[in-house]
Amino acid sequence: MHHRSLRALQRAGATAWLALAATLATPAHALQVFACEPEWAALTRELAGDKATVYTATTALQDPHQIQARPSLIAAVRKAELLVCTGAELEAGWLPVLLRQAANPAVDDGKPGQLMAADFVRKLDVPTRLDRADGDVHAAGNPHIQTDPRNIGLVAQALGQRLTQLDPANAAHYRSRLADFQTRWQAATHRWTQAAAPLKGVPIAVQHRGFPYLEAWLGLQQVAALEPKPGVEPSSAHLADVLRQLQQQPARMILRAAYNEGRGAQWLAERARIPVVTLPYTVGGSERAKDLFGLFDDTLDQLLKATGPTK
Ligand SMILES: [Zn+2]
Repeated sequence: MHHRSLRALQRAGATAWLALAATLATPAHALQVFACEPEWAALTRELAGDKATVYTATTALQDPHQIQARPSLIAAVRKAELLVCTGAELEAGWLPVLLRQAANPAVDDGKPGQLMAADFVRKLDVPTRLDRADGDVHAAGNPHIQTDPRNIGLVAQALGQRLTQLDPANAAHYRSRLADFQTRWQAATHRWTQAAAPLKGVPIAVQHRGFPYLEAWLGLQQVAALEPKPGVEPSSAHLADVLRQLQQQPARMILRAAYNEGRGAQWLAERARIPVVTLPYTVGGSERAKDLFGLFDDTLDQLLKATGPTK
């Protein structure tokens, strides 16, 4: 064979090999995920790693009950292949608008591309009667499930399976990340539960009824709520009533979420001589709540600090 053509052949072979190598090295199309709240965005990142691109619709400083259906959110739903939200009517005021406007069949109600976290946990505070006069009552039960790490573990299981279903080419990747996450999460949950032992039976007041899962997990006793009805800011007359109530039945602290307006809680705290504890409530709600582990590390430390040494 002529030298030149041999070299050409070698070159052609090398080029073909390089093209193949490039194909293998190029990350495949990342799954487009739309997460309604930061906790589900964080969980998706834990389970998918670089196989998903996650868009987070809200921040920890926004009230997830009340979000504007902005064009940027509609555009994000339109290109989503998986939508991960809380459900249980938390997003009832805005998500249906986004879904209607985006008209993306992949993430419609009932499709595999739509995962509602609250469907996978046992819900608390399911009302026995429904009356709009009672305020913005959550008819499907309390949606604020992310304050109990055991719920996060249940949602992780469902989300891991869903990722595998939607992107079977990466099934092994999702399975190993899920197993790794669950091992670390169970160990952390055990550690948090042990550390929280002094919180058992501690009476608390809450701003919004947003902590029933945290209370059930740790044995905290809710004795008062600042909001007269869910979603309604307390009037000064109502706060005075709550103060009288706390003088009869004291609480050790007032819990509020990072997104709550804080003046009412502060007013009450000064008069009842108890601390306000502003919990991150979700990922990004405090400096330390950078991921799901940090969210609970910070939550537990703040609760224990407010409780002080046990008597
Ligand atoms: Zn609520």
